[in-house]
Amino acid sequence: MEKQLGHPLSQCYQCGKCSAGCPAAYTMAEPPNRIIRFLQLGLYDRALSQNSYWVCSSCEMCTARCPRNVEIKEIMEVLRHDAFRRGITSGEAPVPAFHKAFLKTVEWFGRLYEPGLVLLNNLLSGRFFKDFTAAPGMFFKGKLKLFPGRGADNAAVRRIFKYSREEAPRGEV
Ligand code: SF4
Ligand code: SF4
Repeated sequence: MEKQLGHPLSQCYQCGKCSAGCPAAYTMAEPPNRIIRFLQLGLYDRALSQNSYWVCSSCEMCTARCPRNVEIKEIMEVLRHDAFRRGITSGEAPVPAFHKAFLKTVEWFGRLYEPGLVLLNNLLSGRFFKDFTAAPGMFFKGKLKLFPGRGADNAAVRRIFKYSREEAPRGEV
């Protein structure tokens, strides 16, 4: 399992400091230390069936607190990428949809373009009118731009995505 994940797991002695400091633990079906425990026991599918890696915000608090230098945030990312590739949503379907919408928006516009992100996210997640009522207020306060900003090197950004697709396993980017 360690070889598969590329991170040492045996170092973890289940002190729970990662979970105690994790700001997203309250939304997780299983906290970070339990995810590590599943993996130590070879229960990879059980770890993958939890929503924990989807709601992880990659803040690295767990990694900073760990007395055994276990790269918990990196392990969460490995799980997230694998789940994304295999289409596993673990009850958090809007999160992978947002993930996809975010990347596509950056690929198309060369940078983040919020209206495009919101529209695509709503389409992909099937929540067509999500945040719809907030848009006019944000627009009039100058928080939403009607058109994508200029200055991004779109061609260079597309090349990065193309390169990632060729390097990454199928469907990951
Ligand atoms: S803080 Fe480190 S050693 Fe403690 S439970 Fe979490 S991963 Fe394991
Ligand atoms: S990186 Fe993820 S698992 Fe670690 S503390 Fe932050 S939200 Fe929690």
